[in-house]
Amino acid sequence: MVHASGIPVFVSQVRPDDPFFCFRPERLKRAATWFRDSFPGEVFYAVKANPALHILDGLWDAGIRGFDVASPAEIELVATRFPGAKLAYMHPVKNRNAIARAYHEFGVRRFVLDSQAELQKILDATGHAKDLILVVRVGVSNAGAAVPLTGKFGVSEAEAPALLRETRRAACRLGVSFHVGSQSLNPNAWPSAMTNISRLIRKAAVTVDIVDVGGGFPSLYKTDGGMPALINYAASVDAAFEEMMVLESAELWSEPGRALVAEAESLLVRVDGVKGDALYINDGGFGALYDAVNLGWEFPLRALSPDRALSAGERAFTLYGPTCDSADKLAQKVMLPANIGEGDYIEFGNIGAYGRSMATGFNGFGQYGLVETEDAPFASAYVPEDWAVPAVSTGIATLAVSANP
Ligand SMILES: *Cc1c(COP(=O)(O)O)cnc(C)c1O
Repeated sequence: MVHASGIPVFVSQVRPDDPFFCFRPERLKRAATWFRDSFPGEVFYAVKANPALHILDGLWDAGIRGFDVASPAEIELVATRFPGAKLAYMHPVKNRNAIARAYHEFGVRRFVLDSQAELQKILDATGHAKDLILVVRVGVSNAGAAVPLTGKFGVSEAEAPALLRETRRAACRLGVSFHVGSQSLNPNAWPSAMTNISRLIRKAAVTVDIVDVGGGFPSLYKTDGGMPALINYAASVDAAFEEMMVLESAELWSEPGRALVAEAESLLVRVDGVKGDALYINDGGFGALYDAVNLGWEFPLRALSPDRALSAGERAFTLYGPTCDSADKLAQKVMLPANIGEGDYIEFGNIGAYGRSMATGFNGFGQYGLVETEDAPFASAYVPEDWAVPAVSTGIATLAVSANP
């Protein structure tokens, strides 16, 4: 990793050929500190959002000890890097060897499940272990999420009570979890899921030791003009947890991915060709710009030139990624300085979540450099004023943060 005081200087001095991730450790620390201090309950970072070592190390240094892992590779990565980490194996469908290795080799005790078959598999693969912390994932509404995650995982409300009872018999500690979908712009999604789950717990007549409210907390993109302040999410989860039918001593867990790491990295790309209003850049939809190409998301951005002044006037450009696939094109046109040209750079902000982890090596691209930088040009959801907004028990969004840098 190279260091730079700022990306403009880095661009002028290095003129990199490859796309670069620009790492901002202070932004990572700020997000982790907010979740640790201002979000109720224990954080299990969803490793899939960004498994890079400097990200994991930064979270660990900021005091994050819990990790939501979903595959044998993620378990091995975190368990070997941080022997004291608390791992939660949160994939609802695992293979038997993966469960056995997680339990016996890496000491994993927290497992999620959403069916009787998965419960049986976990019991078989761990030799009917007596110290299992089993979390039943319940399917809930994903209304208000930019990336809905319904349908695939989560036991139905009709089947949940029976599964809760059966899991209770096998578990040393019983948890319930849900996922409202990623980039949820609706803080009320959590209270409504928690009210529903309370009803199911009452129906099952079981005691519950853990409520895991999943991930889905948003980050700041230009799409939708911002997001509700994060304090609204903390307040609505806190208030809903108080009302739940669980033990007085029950623990609250969360599994944030995106909100913890989005601001920690930006993506620096170069314009390698121009045809009229079309710019050909060196990363795209098979790389870290997956969401810009496939979901039409607009990231905050800035243009940088290594050697000349960019005009103040802007116009709309179509951006193409480097691969031969004609689908490799940003879904939305992008406003950029009218005279931007070959050899100039574009920096896409807040791409630290699911940028790096979605990138493929298709067509021989997907090689990234890494620069650690001290500048912070993009808007943050962790503005200090936001931290001080009084908690709103209704969870109604009261503060929108401008997404433009
Ligand atoms: C992806 C995922 C998360 C993280 O979601 P974000 O939207 O990134 O916060 C948390 N839990 C589970 C089970 C997931 O699949």
